[in-house]
Amino acid sequence: MARKFFVGGNWKCNGTSEEVKKIVSILNDGKVASADVVDVVVSPPFVFLPLVKSSLRPEFHVAAQNCWVKKGGAYTGEISAEMLVNLDIPWVILGHSERRQLLSESNEASCLCAKRLYFVGDKVAYALSKGLKVIACVGETLEQRESGATMDVVAAQTKAIAERISDWTNVVVAYEPVWAIGTGKVATPAQAQEVHSELRKWLQTNVSADVAASTRIIYGGSVSGANCKELAAQPDVDGFLVGGASLKPEFVDIINAAT
Ligand code: PGA
Repeated sequence: MARKFFVGGNWKCNGTSEEVKKIVSILNDGKVASADVVDVVVSPPFVFLPLVKSSLRPEFHVAAQNCWVKKGGAYTGEISAEMLVNLDIPWVILGHSERRQLLSESNEASCLCAKRLYFVGDKVAYALSKGLKVIACVGETLEQRESGATMDVVAAQTKAIAERISDWTNVVVAYEPVWAIGTGKVATPAQAQEVHSELRKWLQTNVSADVAASTRIIYGGSVSGANCKELAAQPDVDGFLVGGASLKPEFVDIINAAT
């Protein structure tokens, strides 16, 4: 089953409105492959979503970087899935490792208790139920990789999502090894392919052959204009989630990596 290449740009907590306008104009002027062959989704900070959405070329889409785990209400500082839908924001990134590590977002939790306030599986399920499309992030730390636990960690993170959803049509899984994020230490194409292929097998065994064949598994972690082509050539690498380089003109080259 053909999986359309997918390139996400995660702008994280960066930018002023002037800088955002500059990035948008670079994207709008860029010579990119047609929307028939690549999905492009950029994810500015919440406050810039309306600006980016209204000024970005129409074939590119926007994503929020997070949303709340259930219906909005008395949750100071949070943004609900309903609000994103209301503003016509189609995508959301959930379970990014920076949120897992810095804000203790965990795979799952039995209650909204202090230590395990956030849980990624439920966030994914809730966002999907409201009609959002989700980029769900998984990935191991260096310590976990060195102890041989990579696949166990990635499988547990994926399982926490798989147990809560039945329809994977609107899910893209981003494999982002934590040791490769923002470090300049990109996974080798073989390392990325190995985990992507194992993850696809996990989906085949634990979800279904159809979901395994059709779900896009994208790679994230120090992707650049220089390394994207070799990574994109791997059979189970269906695109990228790009941080640092998504703020630079080379993002256009990454969008075109598979062409
Ligand atoms: P990076 O970030 O490309 O700067 O390593 C990737 C990510 O965090 O999604």
